[in-house]
Amino acid sequence: MASVMRQVRLNEPGRFLLREESTPTAGPGEVLLRVRRIGVCGTDLHAYRGRQPFFNYPRVLGHELGVEVVSFGSGVEGFAVGERAALEPYLACGRCRTCCSGRSNCCARLEVLGVHRDGGMQDYIAAPAALVHRSAALDFEQLALIETLGIGYHAVERARLEPGEWVVVVGAGPIGLTVVQFAALAGARVTVLDVNAGRREFSRRLGAEFVVDSSGGSAQTEAAVAEICGDELAHCVFDATGNLEVMSSSLRLAGPGGRVVMVGLALGEFRVDDPLFHRRELSIHSTRNSAGAFPAIIGLMESGKIDTRPWVTHRLALDALPSEFETLYIPEIGLVKAMITL
Ligand SMILES: [Zn+2]
Ligand SMILES: [Zn+2]
Repeated sequence: MASVMRQVRLNEPGRFLLREESTPTAGPGEVLLRVRRIGVCGTDLHAYRGRQPFFNYPRVLGHELGVEVVSFGSGVEGFAVGERAALEPYLACGRCRTCCSGRSNCCARLEVLGVHRDGGMQDYIAAPAALVHRSAALDFEQLALIETLGIGYHAVERARLEPGEWVVVVGAGPIGLTVVQFAALAGARVTVLDVNAGRREFSRRLGAEFVVDSSGGSAQTEAAVAEICGDELAHCVFDATGNLEVMSSSLRLAGPGGRVVMVGLALGEFRVDDPLFHRRELSIHSTRNSAGAFPAIIGLMESGKIDTRPWVTHRLALDALPSEFETLYIPEIGLVKAMITL
């Protein structure tokens, strides 16, 4: 193995640099991984634009990783060279009250590879063995989708959906689509709201039963939801817009005793209509990330319950990233998920 490798580093907003970096080695308890596929997500697009809060530059992005085992350090057992795996990018402290209660995804000291620490936009990365989730059945592209799918998986887990429940997903961007996929798998009857016709249609491929054009405003949207779900509206609403105004109006789509899960993240405060909140005795949940969910998602993918074929719409090579990354912002390309190939 060469002593230097390729790395693409985001030096500052708007400027990727293809450079050489020394190849890492696996320390005690670590596995050295060859990076094969990297999913590009909203976090990366925001970081490139300089719109990612609490983000420091320079930074190596890349937290959705399909990897191959190259070697391992002392104390690591059971791994074999050449195995395929997904690298879970979450480094929780493992000692705090939150971690000990099984909720390491919201550990106050949580660090994410590719966000708080350098991630996978490079040929090799060394990581703790516990974060390397292997699968002989899945390909590198499927493995690189697991982190993203985990957002929807965890959101649905938070909602404790029952089969047959009426679910509304507001916003059919990539995050909303992951929610659609797992809500449908849970047996819910899913309605998707979006202003974009292409996205609405796409959501049907992932399990949406009904779609509503939400460009007519909140009153019109509410009426459309009542038509589908009945006067008692939705059992559960997932907001995946990250838009403060929409988040407030999403509360109105959940019926009495309903739940609302805020999946999209926005900077600022959203309004809660308090009489409505009390009258309907709504429960509002937030979601953070999918730490801990990788094995369950791998199981669902291996058994064919989650179809990943619709997801990847664009591919680009690591070397081409500095010159071609901007093309991903062009709305007309219909981006759902881009994969970087190495
Ligand atoms: Zn992501
Ligand atoms: Zn912790």
